[in-house]
Amino acid sequence: MSVTAMESSCPTCSATSPVNPEDVVIACNYCGTVYTIGKEKIADHNFYQPKYSLAEAEKKIYKFIKRKTRFRGFNSYGGLKIRKTLVPYWVFLAEVKSFYNGYGRYTRTETKRDKDGNVVSQKTTTYYERRTGNFEDEKVDALICRLGARIFGLDKLEKRIETMIRTKPLQPFNQKELLDDMDKISFLSGEITSYEAKEMLETKIQDEYRLKAEKACTELFDCRTHVNVKNMVFLHYPIFIAEYTFGAEKYRVLVDGVSGDVIDAEIPITTRLRVASFIMLLLLFIVNINYTFIQPIENDNVTAMMLFTFFALFAGYKLTNLLFGTVSRGS
Ligand SMILES: [Zn+2]
Repeated sequence: MSVTAMESSCPTCSATSPVNPEDVVIACNYCGTVYTIGKEKIADHNFYQPKYSLAEAEKKIYKFIKRKTRFRGFNSYGGLKIRKTLVPYWVFLAEVKSFYNGYGRYTRTETKRDKDGNVVSQKTTTYYERRTGNFEDEKVDALICRLGARIFGLDKLEKRIETMIRTKPLQPFNQKELLDDMDKISFLSGEITSYEAKEMLETKIQDEYRLKAEKACTELFDCRTHVNVKNMVFLHYPIFIAEYTFGAEKYRVLVDGVSGDVIDAEIPITTRLRVASFIMLLLLFIVNINYTFIQPIENDNVTAMMLFTFFALFAGYKLTNLLFGTVSRGS
């Protein structure tokens, strides 16, 4: 297969969209139709309405950066660029039936005592018992439709999407509700076919139930999990990715497009912050020396001492990161 840029024309509106060799599910950037490379339309195309338009998101992110950098002594940053991006997912509703069979080993100690309560004898016996179990569940799961997806903060987004699909009904795709013109939105194409996604889901669920069964037994003989996919739909999940510059460096912010929350952000470490961190670290060191060596705590106050040690370690670690790092993460 050639690696040169290709194009594909939409089966609905005939507009052409750029295609990468890995793409197997293509989103038309003009009408939003989602189709396979074999030009088969994906009928069940869903999305969530984004909370903000690009202009509103820009204000929100601007405020966020301002709030986060207020005490870092920087007044200006440059080149704030925001993209509204729709990330592709396969969402499943699956019926799971799982059965396991194994054995468990446990020990019991019997203690014999005389009238005064003194121990006369003690006997420990090992018992074996057969353990079987049945699970019947209905699972809602989402699999990202990208193989090498490198989206900033995506690991944090994943859990949110899982919670979102379980609590908020999906909406049929409607380009009018995207709140911006189609040419301002980037649709990410899918790199996993529905068939591959189904297989990945089955393996994931089978592993999950095997792990459950292994925990319930000392030794597992057999675990059979049957996954019946009842419904499978395509979801485009909206996010905002912002980039801004401070000095010569670029920094990124990721916003959950549905809730509008900042999920992850890179915030520059300025000279002022470094100096403040150094002073704090010095203070922490002095207090620590005083607390540990000059006025050692009484033995009955072990909890307080441990808490202080934990605090000092944690604060010390954070401050050292600020002192020597170039960027901090926050939300
Ligand atoms: Zn189209």
